Amino acid sequence: MPHKVYQLFLNQLNKCFDKFEFSKEVQLTMKQPKNEIIVNFPVKLSNGDTELFKGYRIQHNDQLGPFKGGLRFHHEVHLDECKSLAAWMTMKCALQELPYGGGKGGIKFNPREYNEDDLRAISRGFSKALFPYIGENVDIPAPDVGSTAQVMDWMNSVYQNMSHNKFSSSFTGKSLENGGSKGREQATGLGVAYCVREYFKVNNESMEGKTFMVQGFGNVGSFGAKLLEGMGMKCIGVADHTGHYLLNVENNQFEKVFAHNKENRCLAGISTDLATPCDRNTFFSNKCDVFVPAALELQILEEEAKMMNCRMIVEGANGPTDDVADDILLQRGIDVIPDILANSGGVTTSYFEWVQNKSSHYWSEKEVLAKLEDKMVETFHRVWNCAKDNQIDMRTSSFYLAIDRIAKKIASNQK
Ligand code: NAD
Repeated sequence: MPHKVYQLFLNQLNKCFDKFEFSKEVQLTMKQPKNEIIVNFPVKLSNGDTELFKGYRIQHNDQLGPFKGGLRFHHEVHLDECKSLAAWMTMKCALQELPYGGGKGGIKFNPREYNEDDLRAISRGFSKALFPYIGENVDIPAPDVGSTAQVMDWMNSVYQNMSHNKFSSSFTGKSLENGGSKGREQATGLGVAYCVREYFKVNNESMEGKTFMVQGFGNVGSFGAKLLEGMGMKCIGVADHTGHYLLNVENNQFEKVFAHNKENRCLAGISTDLATPCDRNTFFSNKCDVFVPAALELQILEEEAKMMNCRMIVEGANGPTDDVADDILLQRGIDVIPDILANSGGVTTSYFEWVQNKSSHYWSEKEVLAKLEDKMVETFHRVWNCAKDNQIDMRTSSFYLAIDRIAKKIASNQK
């Protein structure tokens, strides 16, 4: 019996296969990853102790190009989580028409419990262990929850030394000094914001004054919120892993909440003058126009779907909504902009970084963000139109467009 989060991916896939006809070969290819890599590597820590770390890299599909996807540093990382995240990456890259397949990996540990020296040693150890399986034309990792541009720099430098290849195109999400792309830091949040903007556009509504709430206030959630505020919307609630659920972030207090989070890397310790603490259920049932899950998988289940009081959900996180909740939200008329579309601005800009690294020609932030906007807008409308034409939800529409692209590639290889 697959773990719940992988079963979620399979249920989403089957919903698409029930509606659209694909060959048995395509269906079977999509259902399981091509390669499942597990590495165990010892690391000497700064306290003199040596600890064994378990790392994963799942390579789901490479029909359209090298495997591509992040590395998660989190104490709950496990094989089936990486399998689903890798599969969603395959879908995301195909949907955005990028020359990539899907991969994902991570290490099961809590990075907040280690100092910088230890994080460097763990990242370097992981890079050495993954060396035989990755590379600029094979599999290109990036940051995910708990890993950062600094982690990518450490891993990239080990890879460069071991491969005698001074190009930086084997990792993306690096710092600017190490070949990162301008605009990458805010790219995923910006993609989320563009999806919201286009959603209101196709519904002939203004964004001005509309309210939103964000669960998860890290890279995706905090930048997404900042950009939506910049587009005229009002952030009225934020939450993070410290258990802080805050409402009534109003009257220009958002900037102060953003600054506190940036400085402390979490919402803990925030002044009650800025926002009102509440419990999780009160947070999820609070009325708003747009709800942005931007934390982890499986946050919106049956209970949350029944209590949510929003007009639309835009999935900044991967896999935040399970399929039972999806059906309830559909019945309740709450639209969902799915993860593989909503957060695809991240991998799209990673692709731009890779192109810049490979050509040694670097673009201005303005150029990067203009290309990102074009991609997000074009893909949003493709998904929206396909959903309307076929009278299906946007997730099934996104899955269909992604799988159709891979199916055509498989068919063309067999001619
Ligand atoms: P991050 O580590 O920067 O932030 C994660 C945030 O979620 C933190 O604020 C953390 O406190 C919060 N969080 C964790 N567990 C929580 C819980 N149980 N309840 C409430 N909040 C919780 O990570 P990120 O890069 O922002 O990634 C967030 C999500 O977006 C993940 O699902 C990730 O896979 C997805 N994603 C990220 C990118 C990217 O470019 N960073 C791209 C695509 C998708």
